[in-house]
Amino acid sequence: MRRSISILVLFFAAFPLFAQAPFPAPWPKPMAPEAYWQTLMTGNATYMAGALPYTGLQAQRDANVAGQNPPVTVFSCADSRVPPELIFGRGIGDLFVVRVAGNVAGPFDIASIEYAIAHDWTRLIVVMGHEDCGAVKAALDPNDPATPSLVALVQRIRESFIGWPTWTGPDKTERAIEANARSSAAYLLAHSEVIRKAVLDHKVGLIVAYYNLKSGKVEEVAP
Ligand SMILES: [Zn+2]
Repeated sequence: MRRSISILVLFFAAFPLFAQAPFPAPWPKPMAPEAYWQTLMTGNATYMAGALPYTGLQAQRDANVAGQNPPVTVFSCADSRVPPELIFGRGIGDLFVVRVAGNVAGPFDIASIEYAIAHDWTRLIVVMGHEDCGAVKAALDPNDPATPSLVALVQRIRESFIGWPTWTGPDKTERAIEANARSSAAYLLAHSEVIRKAVLDHKVGLIVAYYNLKSGKVEEVAP
């Protein structure tokens, strides 16, 4: 009996991939932009449950050596607590990720997103703000930060604060973060003909999202 158990243990140690399907699974293709969002939400639920097995990274690494084709572009904050691949349960070659403090777009961020669209990779753009964003909190501070570059950053974020005078409750920061994320998405449309045309032609979806630090949940932000 003990010997047969040992053989079983040896089998699964030697062939761990037999025990479960490779994760992340490849993107089902082709899909409508909304279907990519649903797949991201499924991955987010797995991440929230603390159940990301990541058995397929080696295979993904090999499969993407010759080139990439990431159907989802994520534009999010540089905050170390907001790693898009983990949050959405995806792996190598899955997401085209552009990150900058406060998820506010400058010319090179826009160029990065245009690059992915021009290669006909992108089917969905997710602009994602997050709970406790330091850049947005600095923008809510009436005083300017210490350097010209930081001032430029918070000034851009403040341009989204139309409702600022009415934000008095405990959700003030969250409302500011959502306003900034919506504004960032609008900025992409206003300042890039490539992005604007792709979205208005319904070739590429555009979703504004909010990431909760503690639960790990990503929620769509209402327009
Ligand atoms: Zn942030």
